Amino acid sequence: MMPLLDRYQLVTPASLSEALDDLATHPGARPFAGGTDLMVLLEAGKLAHRDYINIWGLQEMRGIEASNTHVTFGALTTYTQVQSDPILRREFPMLCQAASETGGLAIQNRGTLGGNIINASPAADSPPALLAYDAEIELVSTRGSRWVPYQGFHTGYKQMQIAEDELLTRIRLPRNTADAKHYYRKVGTRKAQAISKVCFAALGRMRDGHIIDTRIVVGSVAPIVVRCVQTENTLRGQKLDEQTIETACDSLVREISPIDDVRSTSRYRFQVAKNLLVDFLTGLQD
Ligand SMILES: Cc1cc2nc3c(=O)[nH]c(=O)nc-3n(C[C@H](O)[C@H](O)[C@H](O)COP(=O)(O)OP(=O)(O)OC[C@H]3O[C@@H](n4cnc5c(N)ncnc54)[C@H](O)[C@@H]3O)c2cc1C
Repeated sequence: MMPLLDRYQLVTPASLSEALDDLATHPGARPFAGGTDLMVLLEAGKLAHRDYINIWGLQEMRGIEASNTHVTFGALTTYTQVQSDPILRREFPMLCQAASETGGLAIQNRGTLGGNIINASPAADSPPALLAYDAEIELVSTRGSRWVPYQGFHTGYKQMQIAEDELLTRIRLPRNTADAKHYYRKVGTRKAQAISKVCFAALGRMRDGHIIDTRIVVGSVAPIVVRCVQTENTLRGQKLDEQTIETACDSLVREISPIDDVRSTSRYRFQVAKNLLVDFLTGLQD
């Protein structure tokens, strides 16, 4: 291990501004948060970058705050912290459920939401919930800061709109989930420590037997996690009956493009995604 570690450099800045200076002045240096993805790559001998900036201790990127309109949390918020926050539990239960089904306790204590977003796995478990909740993310560099919608941030497999010198510092969720039904399912080989074959997060509102609106997001079925906007449009304003559900399923399969891989088959993923949509929509009637 020691000869391997000799090839790497890790610096620990004392503040966010110092970390941003380090990123600006060391092109090629990458942030090191909880390290749960990076350490796996190190162990496998696949850690491409050599220089790392340890952001774990930056208090500016921690904490969960609520205003009248949003809940905002630091990108270093861990899965354990997500699960124990009362506002997140009450208003954003899908994020808490995703956190509780991510890895085991050690990963939940160390893995961060920011790292999960930037690692950009299409099979990651918190992005479907974050997308369904219309999350926005804050990107900061020495050049300034910007809030951008999380929707559209990932543009292709492991591709995203973040500059080399930017840190993802905070994530915020609009507090507009009142009256909605929340539906989150992670389908994997077993109940714990399994990567998703399909991950499904959805919100829906009904009035007088009609669907007012839905937000439907599916993971592990395309190069990026997919917000199924066409299916949402198909459902808006419709009476919730068998015909509507069938039409929605037809739309869903056009929006996803699952592949065969070591964890599952394309066919299975199509079928499970449809089953989960049916289960979600049927549950809206209750
Ligand atoms: C055994 C095991 C089980 C797991 N199970 C699951 C699971 O069930 N579901 C799931 O979704 N994931 C799972 N993971 C993946 C992992 O835990 C998450 O992706 C984790 O959230 C990454 O966060 P981190 O802080 O550890 O990131 P790190 O490993 O520190 O970094 C990951 C990447 O993000 C970058 N980065 C991190 N933070 C920032 C930031 N704030 N700004 C800019 N760039 C940043 C790093 O440079 C790196 O490229 C598992 C991992 C392991 C090892």
